Amino acid sequence: MPIADQVVVVGAGPVGLVSALILARANVPVLVLEAEPELTRDLRAASFHPPTVEMLAELGVADAMHETGIPARHWQIRDRHGHVVADFDLALIADETPYPYRLHFEQFKLTPLLLARLQAIPGASVRFGAQVAGVTQDADGVTVRIGSPDGEEKIAAKWVIGADGGRSTVRKAANIAFDGFTWPERFLVASTTHDLEPAGFRYASYIADPELWAAIFKVPHEGPPGLWRIAYPTDPNIPEEVVLADDAIEANLQKLHAIPGRWPLHYRSTYRVHQRVAETFRRGRVLLAGDAAHLNNPLGGFGLNSGIHDAVNLADKLGRYFRGEGGEELLDRYSRQRRAATIEQVQAMSIRNKRMMEERDPAVQRERLREMIAIAGDPPRAREHLLNTSMISGLRRAEAVD
Ligand SMILES: Cc1cc2nc3c(=O)[nH]c(=O)nc-3n(C[C@H](O)[C@H](O)[C@H](O)COP(=O)(O)OP(=O)(O)OC[C@H]3O[C@@H](n4cnc5c(N)ncnc54)[C@H](O)[C@@H]3O)c2cc1C
Repeated sequence: MPIADQVVVVGAGPVGLVSALILARANVPVLVLEAEPELTRDLRAASFHPPTVEMLAELGVADAMHETGIPARHWQIRDRHGHVVADFDLALIADETPYPYRLHFEQFKLTPLLLARLQAIPGASVRFGAQVAGVTQDADGVTVRIGSPDGEEKIAAKWVIGADGGRSTVRKAANIAFDGFTWPERFLVASTTHDLEPAGFRYASYIADPELWAAIFKVPHEGPPGLWRIAYPTDPNIPEEVVLADDAIEANLQKLHAIPGRWPLHYRSTYRVHQRVAETFRRGRVLLAGDAAHLNNPLGGFGLNSGIHDAVNLADKLGRYFRGEGGEELLDRYSRQRRAATIEQVQAMSIRNKRMMEERDPAVQRERLREMIAIAGDPPRAREHLLNTSMISGLRRAEAVD
């Protein structure tokens, strides 16, 4: 079998498509293999931090995102009694980014924008209904095995990028450990048309409470007035159909914020949440990015953002490698830089955020919230906090990793 000079990207999620688009723009032949018959439309991430919007602007999709996306300039922490504990204004970092806000825009609306750009570039191709079943490699190249009802097919490549999500077949085929843990509770996400803005909620709001905490976001949905998405933890001992029942959700939403009448519900689901990091993001010719390389809880909105940061870092280095601007050490550097950003920032911040929201000891929680009040009330500290939580500082620190 001839060893093709292409890069195969496994997975047409946002991370795979960003990787492929950057490589294609750098004239690297790229083939994306996606198991599903079309782009997936499930409701997942919807919050883009400023540096991620900058990266997507480079790829020419930010204008379209802004057409319907909701800029969330402020975010806040509240208690369950309706008091605002701390309120942060991203205008404090307007000198650091052209996008001093979180842009709320559903992930499933981003992937079609990326796909359209990718498909317009000669030398790039995307195959749907192509489920990768295995990957083997030797010193010269990689063989990607696709399973289909009609049999098996083998595809040759120089490099493979596993952007095939948390259960990554590519990661498993390369024997890369994925250590970490799974939180015991499932998270429930419900969305509602009830407008929380008149009650003082910001478009990104967190309710800290030892019994029932929540993360609340306004998302564009099908256009104004949009939807409010509310995520809270559920008891792992209670069956899924019970926590998802109308009355159970109604009772919890009323506890989080009492309204007259019932909460109008639009959508609901539960999901499990993990904190895991691959032991390396590179093994030989196999490279990992996005959820295939790391998973974290959603508090802080780091999952998709950090996956896109991986994709940009990796595709840029692979492009340089193909142009002869460096050797394989570029790819080891990718692994070191993005693993450092994942472990030191994304994992640390998302775990800290969750602990703060759910702290059961009232004295400890009071102390942590007092700390947030102090930070929010002190502009230099608030600015530093915003640079961290917007992932700007983390990206700069990772860039400095050799
Ligand atoms: C409910 C929820 C809310 C979230 N909220 C946020 C948020 O607010 N902010 C944030 O930053 N992150 C959030 N996340 C996380 C975010 O959605 C993920 O980090 C993101 O989807 C990762 O993108 P990805 O491209 O790496 O993987 P995925 O989006 O999972 O894409 C992987 C692709 O690979 C394909 N695939 C899988 N296996 C194979 C195979 N064997 N062969 C071929 N193709 C394959 C899949 O079909 C899929 O299309 C949330 C996640 C969930 C579940």
